[in-house]
Amino acid sequence: MKKFAELQYVRPDMEKIFARVSGDIAVLKEAKNYEEFRNAYMDYVEADTELETSKTVAHIRNTINLLDEFYEAEMVYFNSQMPKYEILKKEMGEVIVASPFKAEMEKEFGAILIQNMEAQKQLSDESIVDDQVKEAELVSRFMKTQAAATVEFKGEQIGNYGLLKIMQSTDRAERKEAFEAWAKLYEGIAPTLEEVYDGLVKVRAGMAKKLGFKSFIPMGYLRRRRFDYTEKELEVFRKQVREVVVPAAAKLYERQKEALGIDTLYYYDESIASPSGNPVPIGDKEYLVGEAQKMYRELSKESGEFFDFMMEHELFDLDSKHGKRAGGYCTTLPQYHAPFIFSNFNGTDADVNVLTHEAGHAFAGFTAAKYQKTPELCHSTSEINEIHSMSMELWTYPWMENFFGDKAEEYRKEHLADALMKIPYMLCVDEYQHKVFENPEMTTMERRAVWSGLEKIYMPWRNYAGNEFLESGAFWIKQQHIFLYPFYYVDYAMAQMGAFEFYTKMKEDRKAAWADYYKLCAAGGSMGYFDLLKYSGLHKVLEDGSVKIILKGVFEELGL
Ligand SMILES: [Zn+2]
Repeated sequence: MKKFAELQYVRPDMEKIFARVSGDIAVLKEAKNYEEFRNAYMDYVEADTELETSKTVAHIRNTINLLDEFYEAEMVYFNSQMPKYEILKKEMGEVIVASPFKAEMEKEFGAILIQNMEAQKQLSDESIVDDQVKEAELVSRFMKTQAAATVEFKGEQIGNYGLLKIMQSTDRAERKEAFEAWAKLYEGIAPTLEEVYDGLVKVRAGMAKKLGFKSFIPMGYLRRRRFDYTEKELEVFRKQVREVVVPAAAKLYERQKEALGIDTLYYYDESIASPSGNPVPIGDKEYLVGEAQKMYRELSKESGEFFDFMMEHELFDLDSKHGKRAGGYCTTLPQYHAPFIFSNFNGTDADVNVLTHEAGHAFAGFTAAKYQKTPELCHSTSEINEIHSMSMELWTYPWMENFFGDKAEEYRKEHLADALMKIPYMLCVDEYQHKVFENPEMTTMERRAVWSGLEKIYMPWRNYAGNEFLESGAFWIKQQHIFLYPFYYVDYAMAQMGAFEFYTKMKEDRKAAWADYYKLCAAGGSMGYFDLLKYSGLHKVLEDGSVKIILKGVFEELGL
């Protein structure tokens, strides 16, 4: 593989690809034996891998420079062509699921591949096409409303993004002012957002009914490829969070209050762990990346090989630049088995997190590609793939001196506590959505009351300092997952538990824990959720008693 910047990009000939995949589908239908069948499938995989790679190259270059008209046009082209391609892929799945060679295919590639195709079939039907369009329209209205919202702050109109930085201020009065402005910003758009959400709830509930689901809950689970558990099992996890994690988090907030030297911890104090603010990295980008390379070489042979590959092929774009998209992500170029990390470094601890969390995703992608037969088998669901990344944040703790100097111990303690303290909110968001879809006819004010009730259970420390809007149960509208990705949020909590279990294990036997972690990464998405946990020696958080065992090492470290 060349360096990323030197990869030649040519627009794929979509007509040719459509013809090729249609040809593969025809062979799949007519195949006389498994070999013929398999060859047609693998030909499709090859075509798909090339297409995905070209599309990803264009996407990365587009996000690196949104002002570059060439790649902008390429993305417009892909967006216009993909719906037709998706229809072909769906047709292929239907042919495979109905084929006499299905069992052989399942034997070779694993049951999960077939399950994905069956789920796809169950989730699509002519009768819901209009609803899907409506859902997409509502989602885009949500995005536009949120992006356009501004509020007056210190005599200037300022948006959500601008406020977020000031909300981290170590000056309490300024922080309070920023949080109040933030609440006001949301209060201004609340009527629109709650109307949009009401529309989303009803259109989703309607689709579920048309497809024969008892509510949107099982349909939402299937959309997320949750084949192993239902909301009943999830309640077992929630119960453990309420009993084990909520009291621990309450203690940590109590400590935080003392560290900040304040009498009452208000909602605008929750994000500040110490009066001096969060530890800041001690070097610039060149320095941090160089330290990361040394770190990954020392961590293990496999991680060293991975990071050297990233460096050799320059599979990063980390600087913040004019015209570059905000935020960060990790993606892969399947044809080259190469991950790519995109970020906007800003001189905070978030930069180090890119080199651990996003690099964890990249390491998993790089590793799975070595072992799995197709790119699809490399992709696990988020309950698993966030274990890859969140665990890497913990694997790299011993090297934090190189990033934070004498603040390293403070960083580690705060990072670990923070990961635990975030869990109750995630479960609150999740249970809220279940309650909403159990009763889609609720009014806006009834929904707010539900949120308020759950907040008291999961976040008893939460104090809105008399802000009427937030006290009315409106905080949830800032959580875009609720609008965009129903039932997604709890995946972070489940994955964090997996990472915590690796932490507990690495404290006992680092070598054995790494071997299990490596197995999990190598398996990619080739098995279902439960099978992957079992394969890598992790507990199911959906089993009573597991959370206590998982958190043993974390509680010891935090003195809980
Ligand atoms: Zn992640």
